Amino acid sequence: MIPLLAFLLGLLVAVPAVHLAEAAMTHRRAGKPRCPYCRTPLPPRQWSTTLAYLTGQRRCPACGKPLRLQRLVGEVGLAVTWALTAHRFGLTPRSIAAMLAVLPLWMITVTDLESRLIPNRVILPALVLIALPTLLWGPPVPGLEGWRWWQGPVGALLGFVAMWVLATLGQLLVGEGALGAGDVKLAAYAGFVVGYPLVIELLIVTFVLGGTGGLLLLLARRGNLRSAMPYGPYLVLGTVAVLLYHVELTRWLFGG
Ligand SMILES: [Zn+2]
Repeated sequence: MIPLLAFLLGLLVAVPAVHLAEAAMTHRRAGKPRCPYCRTPLPPRQWSTTLAYLTGQRRCPACGKPLRLQRLVGEVGLAVTWALTAHRFGLTPRSIAAMLAVLPLWMITVTDLESRLIPNRVILPALVLIALPTLLWGPPVPGLEGWRWWQGPVGALLGFVAMWVLATLGQLLVGEGALGAGDVKLAAYAGFVVGYPLVIELLIVTFVLGGTGGLLLLLARRGNLRSAMPYGPYLVLGTVAVLLYHVELTRWLFGG
């Protein structure tokens, strides 16, 4: 029952969150939800893209274009993450903190998939907001037992450095645009969320997912290395995987 409620609440919260993220992406003020193509305000029954798709109203009433699937990914992604968190860990203070911490991640997934942008207006406030709570109460990892104040900042530093090295290498090997400054900031945020030492698992999972995904896209000839796919969504999936399954992942990766 509680996971179902968490799922529905996630869908409800995701609608304005995705809307705000898109407004930040396009540097527009967040007014009423609009069709991304013709800018006509959408009727309330289409504010949730998930609901619009489920009820067969996925096309903009004005221009007839289907609503963006990226919005659907953000809404369902947040809802599923919240449901799984509630299912696995119940509603403890730390699992609720984890639910809040993944909100900016799914907002960024939408903008990164839509236009390869990780808006500063989303990631910078997220970084500011997460820093102090992790110093005071440790990383928002459900089921975490025992923590030190430096785990969050050290995790953020490691995430930042690892992604910065990768971005610099990518720039040398592939050229402009392989990985951006947004990915580096996102990795720092993800490092705050899971903290040290789980950030190492996060990086491993992310690189495995990113490598596999990139290879599959290359094999499908959907583009070259440079245009393969934004890296942000892999970081988001890696973070969610570590938050939910860090116990199992630690066992698989490091034994014990
Ligand atoms: Zn339209």
